[in-house]
Amino acid sequence: MDAVRIILKSGKEQSVRRFHPWVFSGAIKKIQGNPVEGDIVEVYDNKNSFLAIGHYQPASIAVRILSFDKIKPDKEFFRERLKNAITYRKVSGLIGNPSFNVFRLIHGEGDNLPGLIVDFYNGVAVMQFYSAGMYRIRTQIADLLRELLADMVTAVYDKSESTIPYLSGIKPVNGFVYGNADQVIINEYGFKFRVDLTSGQKTGFFIDQRENRSLLLNYSGRKTVLNMFGYTGGFSVYSLKDAREVHTVDSSSPAIDLAEENVRLNYGNESRHKSFRTDAFEFLREMGNDYDLIILDPPAFARHSNVLANALQGYKRLNMKAIEHIKPGGIIFTFSCSQVVSQENFRKSVFAAAANTGRKVRLLHQMGQPPDHPVNIYHPESEYLKGLVLYVE
Ligand code: SAH
Repeated sequence: MDAVRIILKSGKEQSVRRFHPWVFSGAIKKIQGNPVEGDIVEVYDNKNSFLAIGHYQPASIAVRILSFDKIKPDKEFFRERLKNAITYRKVSGLIGNPSFNVFRLIHGEGDNLPGLIVDFYNGVAVMQFYSAGMYRIRTQIADLLRELLADMVTAVYDKSESTIPYLSGIKPVNGFVYGNADQVIINEYGFKFRVDLTSGQKTGFFIDQRENRSLLLNYSGRKTVLNMFGYTGGFSVYSLKDAREVHTVDSSSPAIDLAEENVRLNYGNESRHKSFRTDAFEFLREMGNDYDLIILDPPAFARHSNVLANALQGYKRLNMKAIEHIKPGGIIFTFSCSQVVSQENFRKSVFAAAANTGRKVRLLHQMGQPPDHPVNIYHPESEYLKGLVLYVE
């Protein structure tokens, strides 16, 4: 049977020739065949030259490209891609690092495996599928993880219940596909965290903030710290090492429970920690001027470019409150994880916020995502995490 062919409109092949891994539905001139969600399709330009091969889905991103060569996307192909991701993580000092046993093993487009996320939690590989095509080969992926990581992997968990938006007919169910683990406790730079596989957000822990949490240790000594949007309490646990007091704010009860549990796991009953289950903006409206270190790590304010302006306003409002109320000589760690908000736009919002308060602000650090969340340079969207550390006079 001939492969389904996706023929692009004239001119629309350019982004594919520049190795961008997505074909948008608007770029398609015609489809030869009747692909269903998750099928392998071949992409051709207007003059019938082969461009790429990928997974089809009837959505705005119509094809997620697997290769720009005319390969067979069989088990051997995926073995090579996974091996490549593992080699990259050995070279960048992530696999076998004695300082932590948690890292991202596969980062979708960043590892040339669009639609697939795998996080490694102390022996448990958590797979999260974002496309039907990848989901269809989940058993193959799980087998390959076991084969290539051998003794490193004791269990494989599939957590795709909420991540495959277009899938029709199949309903993913979260669960172990190999092995088992009652409780997953990870170690990151000497700090312990319990990872909630079943109900936690994303795969259970925000691994991407590892280096930024570590940087916080340089600034938290004897400080009164406010950790906004605390989730599992990552920044709180780090800063409690030597802060005077730490307050964690999150609007979700399970998040607050987990943050408290993680504080106990590291410090026992710790009177220097207090948590507040409340809306961040409400908290900011009523907070005093007692904090000398504030962390702002909100969820993505913009999921689509059509709400970009609102998102930028959101960042501005949030940062303005923090800059306005922080003690003189205070430090702010501020982040954006919205894919559609560029580093430049984020900086502009934060700088505009600072200007509105009239306070003098210096830039101490500019941060991004760690090497286990690689940026594919042909896919600017994979650069999503941005952070600034501010010193407020
Ligand atoms: N800083 C965290 C990750 C933050 S994820 C870490 O390092 O792990 C974003 C968190 O913001 C979620 O836990 C979510 O429950 C919380 N959240 C979302 N909207 C909120 C709001 N309006 N007020 C307070 N918390 C909110």
